[in-house]
Amino acid sequence: MLENKDRSLTPISSLGEFKLIDHLTEIFKDIQPSTIKGVGDDAAVLSFGETKTVLTTDLLIEGVHFDLSYMPLKHLGYKAIMVNLSDVYAMNAMATQVTVSIAVSNRFSLEALEELYAGIKTATDIYGVDLVGGDTSSSNKGLIISVTAVGHVAEEKITYRSGARPNDLLVVTGDLGAAYLGLQILEREKQVFEVNPNNQPDLQAYDYLIERQLKPEARKDMVKLLDDLDVVPTAMIDISDGLSSEILHLCRNSGVGCDLYENKIPIDPQVISTCEEFQLDSTTVALNGGEDYELLFTVKQDDFPKIKANPNLTVIGYMKDEETGSHLITRAETKVPLKARGWNAVSDQE
Ligand code: ADP
Ligand code: MG
Repeated sequence: MLENKDRSLTPISSLGEFKLIDHLTEIFKDIQPSTIKGVGDDAAVLSFGETKTVLTTDLLIEGVHFDLSYMPLKHLGYKAIMVNLSDVYAMNAMATQVTVSIAVSNRFSLEALEELYAGIKTATDIYGVDLVGGDTSSSNKGLIISVTAVGHVAEEKITYRSGARPNDLLVVTGDLGAAYLGLQILEREKQVFEVNPNNQPDLQAYDYLIERQLKPEARKDMVKLLDDLDVVPTAMIDISDGLSSEILHLCRNSGVGCDLYENKIPIDPQVISTCEEFQLDSTTVALNGGEDYELLFTVKQDDFPKIKANPNLTVIGYMKDEETGSHLITRAETKVPLKARGWNAVSDQE
C-alpha cells in the first residue's frame, strides 16, 4: 500500500527532516491563546499564568537511534530522559515532569524492562523530575521509547532559537565531538567481538568518549549557572545533531549570519588523540558529530565579563548580518561556508 510504485509519489528522503516537519505541520494553525510557541523550537511554550510551561517529546527506536548490542538498557533509559530534558533546558527552563511510553516485542523479559526503568529512575532522581505517566504497547519488532518532558520558566527568561542579533557572542558549554567518537569505538569493538567473542577490549583510553555516548548529561547545571551569573541568552538550542547544523538553525531562526572560529571550538584531549588514531579531523568531528547534548547560545557583548572566566563556557564566534552568511574561520584564517552535514556524514571530509 505504501510502496512507491507510482513514480509521482515523493520519497521522504527528498525533503530532509526539517522540510518534512515544516511540510506536515504547515496546515496547523495554533488557535489556543495559551499556545505561545508551537512547532519549531527545542520545545513548545504554553502559558497558563505568570510562569510559562515548556513541552517537548522525542522518539527513540531500536536499530535507528540505539543498538542494544552495546547500549546497556539501563543507560538507554537514562539517555532517553536526557535527550528530552536537554530540549527543556535549551529553552532556559527547568524540567519538572516526564512521561515515558514504550512499545516492546516479546523478545524482552521483565528483567530487561526493569533495567530500562532503573536507568529512567536514576535520571529522574538526579535531575529532580517526576515520572507522571506514559503508555505501554507491544511492538512487532524491537523496542521503541517515547519520552515527553514538561518544564517551566519565567516569561522574561525564555530563550527561543530566534533571538540572536548581529554582534551577539556565540557560546557553547562543555566540549564537542566526544559522543560521536564514543559511538565509533563501540561500533569497532562490536565488530571485533563478533569475530572473536573471547577478545576482552581495553577501553580505558576511551573512557570519556564512551561515557559521553552511553551516559550523556543534559546541562541543567548550565541553566542554573546562567541564572546565577544573571545572564539571559538572546537565543539558545541544544546540540543534538552537531555544532554546524545547530548554528545554522540559530542563524536561520534568528535571521542572522555568523563567524565561527575553528581555534575556539572546545575539544577534549581524548577526542584529539582518538581522531589521530582514526585519521579523522577533530574539527570535522566537533562540527558534525552530534549527540553531545551541550547548549549553544548567544549573549549580548555586554554580558561578556560575566561569562568570560567560566571554564564551562567558551565563546566560539559571533553573529553577523544575515547577508554575510555563516562561516568557519579556519586556523589558517580562511573562510569556509558552514554546512549542516549531519552526524553520519562525518567521514566524507573535504
Ligand atoms: P530537537 O532536535 O530539538 O528534538 P526536532 O528537530 O525534533 O527538535 O523538532 C523541531 C520542531 O519540530 C519541534 O518544535 C518539534 O516539536 C517539531 N516536530 C518534530 N516532528 C514533528 C511532527 N511529526 N509533528 C509535529 N511537530 C513536529
Ligand atoms: Mg533540541
